[in-house]
Amino acid sequence: VTGERGGEAAFLEDFAYLSTIGGTARGGVNREAATIPDAMQRAWFGGWLSSRGFRVEVDEIGNQFGLMEFVPGAPYILTGSHLDSQPTAGRFDGAYGVAASASAGHAIAVKVAAGEIEPRFNIAIVNWFNEEGSRFPPSMMGSSVFTGKLALQAAYSVEDRGGVSVEQALTLIGMKGEAASLSLAGYVEIHIEQGRELEANRAQIGIVTGTWGARKFQVRFIGSQSHTGPTPMSERQDALLTAAETIVQTRALADQFAEAPLHTAVSTLEIYPNSPVVVASDVSINLDLRSPVPSVLDEAERLIIATAERIGSERGVGVRIERTHHWDDNQYTPELFDVVEEVCIAQGLSHRRLLTVAGHDSTNMKDVVPTIMLFVPSRDGVSHNELEFTEEADLLAGRRTMVGLLEKLVQETQWSTV
Ligand SMILES: [Zn+2]
Repeated sequence: VTGERGGEAAFLEDFAYLSTIGGTARGGVNREAATIPDAMQRAWFGGWLSSRGFRVEVDEIGNQFGLMEFVPGAPYILTGSHLDSQPTAGRFDGAYGVAASASAGHAIAVKVAAGEIEPRFNIAIVNWFNEEGSRFPPSMMGSSVFTGKLALQAAYSVEDRGGVSVEQALTLIGMKGEAASLSLAGYVEIHIEQGRELEANRAQIGIVTGTWGARKFQVRFIGSQSHTGPTPMSERQDALLTAAETIVQTRALADQFAEAPLHTAVSTLEIYPNSPVVVASDVSINLDLRSPVPSVLDEAERLIIATAERIGSERGVGVRIERTHHWDDNQYTPELFDVVEEVCIAQGLSHRRLLTVAGHDSTNMKDVVPTIMLFVPSRDGVSHNELEFTEEADLLAGRRTMVGLLEKLVQETQWSTV
C-alpha cells in the first residue's frame, strides 16, 4: 500500500478535482460513456488507484477495476459505481459512489498494512462502463455484461447516433480490455438517492431493501410520407400524430392506478424524414414504465400496448413495440440490512430503509452476489440535472459508513450463509 495520505479532506479534494473533468458552466458534468471526458476521468482514476497500490484492470466491456489483494486467492468484496454521466448531468450521480468506494477501500488497505485489521477477503473497486445508457442504450451496460445478462457481442454492436459502435468507442479510448476472472464474495454500492425520502425524513443514510420494477420499450410508428399541404386530411397516415397521441396517453396512464404508484415517460423522439413540408412516415419513441408492484406494471404494459395499437389503427399507421430493457421489482440481500444498520448506529448516523426507483449497477449485481446498496440524500430529489446537490456532511457520512462497512465485510466469516 502506498499513498498513505487519505481521510476525509483528501476525499473531498479528490472529488472536487474529479468534478472538473467534463465540468459544465452550471456546475454539472458532461461525461457520456467512452467520450473524451470519460477517457480523461478513467486515466485520472486509474492513476489514483495504482498510486495507492491497487492493480488496475479493464475487462472486455470497459469496466475498470482496482484490485487490492490482501489474502492471495481469496474472493473480493467489490465496491463502486459509475463515472459516466448523462449529456448534461450533476456531478454526484455515480461519481460520488466511485470516489467514496475508492477512498474507503484505500482506508481499509491502510488499516490492513498497519496491522489493525486481519482480512479474510480482498477488496476491489469498480467503475462500471456506461451505466447511463444515454449514448449507447441500454443503461447499466457494463454490469449487465459482467453478470451475463447481456451478451458481449450484443453490447459491442450497439451504435450511437453517429454510427460509432461500443466496440469502436472502447477501442478508441484504449478501454477494450480482457475478460476479468474475479471471484466475488459480495458487492457494495453507494449512490445519491435521486429522491426526497431521506431528506423528508431527516435520515443521513438510506439502506436500499429493494427496487421498483422497470420496463422500457421502443415504439415505432410507420405511416406514409406525404405532402403537408395538398394531401387530403382523410388520406394521411401521420406517424408523428400517432406518436404524439400515444405520448399523451402514456402520461394519462400514470393516473389510472390507485393501488400503487406508476411512473411513466416518453423520453426521446426520432422523426423521419423530419422535413417541414413532409408528413412524417417513420417515428420512434422510448417509453418507460416503473412501479414497485408487478401487477401494476403488467396491467400498464397491456394497456399502453393496446392503446398505441388502437390509435395506430385509427390513423392508418403501423405500430411496432419492442421491449428493450426491463428489471423486476425485487429485494436486495435481506441478511445484510442489519449489518449496515449496526455500522450506522456505531457511527451515530441516522438511517432509513427504502426502495430505489432508479436502476443501478447493484440492480444487476444483487442477482449474482450478496449486495448492499446505500443512499445519501439528494437536495430536493433533483437528479439527471446539473443542479443535483448533496451536502458535504452527507458525502462524508456516506464515506464513513463505507469505511465501517468494508472493515466489517473484509473480516466477515458469515458470507457463506448469505
Ligand atoms: Zn447513477
